Amino acid sequence: MERKILLIDKDEFFINFMQDRLQVEKFVVDVAKNTSEAYSKILSFLPDLIISAYDIEDIDGFQFCKTVKSHKILSRIPFLVLADKVKPVDKYWAEKCDVQEVLQKDTPYEEIRVVIDELLNEYEMDENTKEQIKNHPLIQDSVQNQAIKLMKSEIEKYTFLNAFRDMVNEYHTDEKALIQNTFDLLSVFLEYDLAGIFFNHAQEADKYLLHFDIKNCSVSSFVLEKVKRDFFAKMPNMKEFSITSFGHDIVNENHENLDKRIISANEFQSSLILPFEFEEKLIGGVCFYSKKEQNFMDFIFYDIMVHELTSLFKTSYLFSGIEFLSVTDGLTGLSNRRQFDYSINREFNKSRKYPSDLCFAILDIDHFKSVNDNYGHQYGDYVLKEVSSIIKNSFRRSDMIYRYGGEEIGIIMTETTIPSAMTMMERLRKKIETHEFFFNGIQISLTASIGVSSNMDKLEDAHQMIECADKALYKAKETGRNQVLTYSGEDN
Ligand code: GH3
Ligand code: MG
Ligand code: MG
Repeated sequence: MERKILLIDKDEFFINFMQDRLQVEKFVVDVAKNTSEAYSKILSFLPDLIISAYDIEDIDGFQFCKTVKSHKILSRIPFLVLADKVKPVDKYWAEKCDVQEVLQKDTPYEEIRVVIDELLNEYEMDENTKEQIKNHPLIQDSVQNQAIKLMKSEIEKYTFLNAFRDMVNEYHTDEKALIQNTFDLLSVFLEYDLAGIFFNHAQEADKYLLHFDIKNCSVSSFVLEKVKRDFFAKMPNMKEFSITSFGHDIVNENHENLDKRIISANEFQSSLILPFEFEEKLIGGVCFYSKKEQNFMDFIFYDIMVHELTSLFKTSYLFSGIEFLSVTDGLTGLSNRRQFDYSINREFNKSRKYPSDLCFAILDIDHFKSVNDNYGHQYGDYVLKEVSSIIKNSFRRSDMIYRYGGEEIGIIMTETTIPSAMTMMERLRKKIETHEFFFNGIQISLTASIGVSSNMDKLEDAHQMIECADKALYKAKETGRNQVLTYSGEDN
């Protein structure tokens, strides 16, 4: 029976040598010098075995194999990769990429020949499969196109997967940042009008937060209620739930610049609701709603998304048992000092590694002690909560606001220059100045002072940036309070 072998290598000398030897032994041999040529040959020549060099062109022999085999119909064809040097790790990658065998190029031909026979015997393709490949619409399509599409979708798939993993590595200790980044990532790939993420916390058994991301539209609280109902109805054991809080912080600002408005929940034409379980416990979930009729399950990375979200929820759930409680401030709901120390260093270092603007502000309420003294500690607590919520509602990234000290609040502003940070802070200062604080029948007015700094070149670390903001705040207090100042290092 005639056996066909496809040789892939850009090294003409080697390819000629192999072709001659194999043809002498009555194999039918075809050759390809690059991956797109190889693709078209695989589909038209239908080899029984592919022998590929490790060095092909922009992708290596393993990746190429993985790409080919991502097509189910081609997954039975055995791959032998020949590398100049085979390191122990290559065996691992070969297995991950579904490469059957890796050999060094300088292996004596007779030994290579033994492996070829083994592979041909073990992976013999039946006539039925060959017939299927021949008649597969893939082949009628332009082969070149198909090759390009396949490679492109493989590369996109890995990009998506890597983006997910990088994000989880970087933010697994910071749930709010994780949620924001998950939405950012999913919205690049998935078209939705509203999405929700729900995390269950190992240690906070009755605190369930559903966080929303809303695109191009505004929704009434009625719609949010419906989504909440849909969402939890899909969850197993839903009787155990009590929702004490509702993640409005992500919703609010998108609310303000609305061009379209969803009046009723019926406008959603399609939805996808996915609960995630681990050890028979519900650990989280996501939901997507769209005004278009679409099948979210057709999303090309659906499987990857579900897989990665499952491990995201698992990591978060397991981690929450140890760590989550200790990152949020109980009174204000802001991230606490401990989380601040972690985030400011992370953001500062990131702004150095991938140069970008970064600003930091400390806000301190003016004469706060006298609020406590005149109206009691409870009133002071109310003021702190109220100021925190004014700040939260003023910023896109509510995850970057921290209870820095007793009545001092720290705000990290990424991708922000000093002039825009100053404008934002001035706006915030005015909001506080004009806000009517009302509690226990008593109404008062308050002011705050703010110190701002940036990641100027001369600063060595996050600590020095915090010091500069501290100095600016001190100056603001000293020179009359109720003002925003910055400090760049030189006095005056
Ligand atoms: P200044 O304008 O200089 O900032 O004056 P100030 O009175 O605000 O002075 P300072 O910032 O030093 O005052 C901090 C006060 O904040 C003292 C402390 O009693 C109060 N405080 C800190 N944490 C809390 C809290 O959780 N609740 C309440 N009610 N008060 C707090
Ligand atoms: Mg203070
Ligand atoms: Mg104060």
